[in-house]
Amino acid sequence: MKQVQDYIRTIVDFPHEGIMFRDVTTLFADPRGFRMAIDQMLHPYAGIDIDKVVGLEARGFILGGAIAHQLSVGFVPIRKKGKLPGRTISQDYKLEYGEAIVEIHDDAIKPGEKVLVVDDLLATGGTAEAGIKLIERLGGEIVSTAFIIDLPELGGRKRLEAMGMEVNALCA
Ligand code: 5GP
Repeated sequence: MKQVQDYIRTIVDFPHEGIMFRDVTTLFADPRGFRMAIDQMLHPYAGIDIDKVVGLEARGFILGGAIAHQLSVGFVPIRKKGKLPGRTISQDYKLEYGEAIVEIHDDAIKPGEKVLVVDDLLATGGTAEAGIKLIERLGGEIVSTAFIIDLPELGGRKRLEAMGMEVNALCA
């Protein structure tokens, strides 16, 4: 039987030369692949108390929405600067070249709410770390972080685990 990783393709030299981009759109487009990925991402959280799922822009929205629906909890987006319409708090983080800023609505998480953070891929962990900081600044408690792909050689897992985070991923 095909596994989750069999539905993911690699695009060479995207978005620039030397990058091997893991393209999950082929996984999302396949009915069996997508269901398998969501089911497997949910597996560690059976019986676990979660109040909100937070998805990181943009593929984290697709996964996070499906996971929140399955858990019957609310979904909250973390977006790139300037995209959210209400009052926000911001967090900057380093990219390979330069910096980026992510934002969350300042009323999206209530103090003490238990949060699951979702994205498609963990590389350096910079994006997830910025998202975690936003949630913690609002008083949310991170229960766990869930990804389809973990690229361990880029250090993201170590970085998040050093912050005390649980990291779950389906494949490398
Ligand atoms: P990090 O901040 O951990 O270095 O990078 C992870 C973020 O960049 C995630 O939001 C992820 O969606 C995106 N990303 C980086 N490289 C890839 C890739 O090869 N494939 C996909 N699908 N996303 C990537």
